[in-house]
Amino acid sequence: MTPAPTSATTRQPESRTDQQTLLAVPALSDSSELIANAEVLATFLARHRHTMLLTGAGISTASGIPDYRDRDGIRRGRLPVQGAEFRQSEAVRKRYWARSMIGWPTLAQARPNAAHLALAALQQHARAGALLTQNVDGLHQQAGSREVIELHGNIHRVICLQCATQFPRAEVQQTLQALNPELAGTLAQPLPDGDAQLEPDAHTDFHVPACPRCGGMLQPDVVFFGDGVPRARAEVAEQAVQQADALLVVGSSLMVFSGFRFARMAAEAGKPVIVLNRGVTRADSLLTLKMEFAAEHMLPQVLRQLGIAALTEAQVEAAEVEAGVQSAALSDPLSHPLSRT
Ligand SMILES: [Zn+2]
Repeated sequence: MTPAPTSATTRQPESRTDQQTLLAVPALSDSSELIANAEVLATFLARHRHTMLLTGAGISTASGIPDYRDRDGIRRGRLPVQGAEFRQSEAVRKRYWARSMIGWPTLAQARPNAAHLALAALQQHARAGALLTQNVDGLHQQAGSREVIELHGNIHRVICLQCATQFPRAEVQQTLQALNPELAGTLAQPLPDGDAQLEPDAHTDFHVPACPRCGGMLQPDVVFFGDGVPRARAEVAEQAVQQADALLVVGSSLMVFSGFRFARMAAEAGKPVIVLNRGVTRADSLLTLKMEFAAEHMLPQVLRQLGIAALTEAQVEAAEVEAGVQSAALSDPLSHPLSRT
């Protein structure tokens, strides 16, 4: 085994050797190296009181939600559904909803992990500002985070493309199972975004539910690949970057441009950009500092360094209740799909 990798690297280009070393040596939560890096990050957050947070799939893997990409930033598995083909092809909608019905329980049962909780605690203690997430799993709200901007929407909501009514995804799940009892209870390999591996012929007879109000087409309230982020939502995110004095990226390779552009915007404005992510990122050349540790190990240690207590179970439960109420009340004014660019 090679020795532990140097983790706090300043503007250091990735080399093949570095990547191999990182793959070979998992960062240990109690290692002195992790503690040293946590100290650096804690000091940084103490000095930059308006640090904006940007999170990606890597923060949710410890909650059992699969990541899209490996450490080289290469996409795993089959291509995701494209928004245009979803809306144009009934066969694609059948495939999407069949796989989504099977994959949903994994997402529905996911709970925030130590990294989500630590970011919420940082916000509550005014050590971090707005939180922009590329994730659609809603785990930041469940963890008690405030000022969450869901760049790509929220998989816990479904929207009618005709009358714009929003429905809780959990409610649509009941309809899906009632319409497709032969598939209900199927166990399948979970994939990102509530997708699941399913035999190709399993969805040819699948019954796709329509809007119970107008009969219109239902779509999960997420930005599909190939679709743009709604303009109003992107503007909120841009304003948050402008108001921040630094950016901390957690668990994202920033390979998708809609997330990367915020890191670039911060760097171009001369604001320090720190990444906490295991593996290559698209923004490596822009970074002030890169820390290659698992967020669920690193961030609780940062809290300790700052003397901040993690949220209590009661606080998390209260946040979960509130997040549930929010998704049932469907109160996100920025999620209207008709405004997508
Ligand atoms: Zn409708």
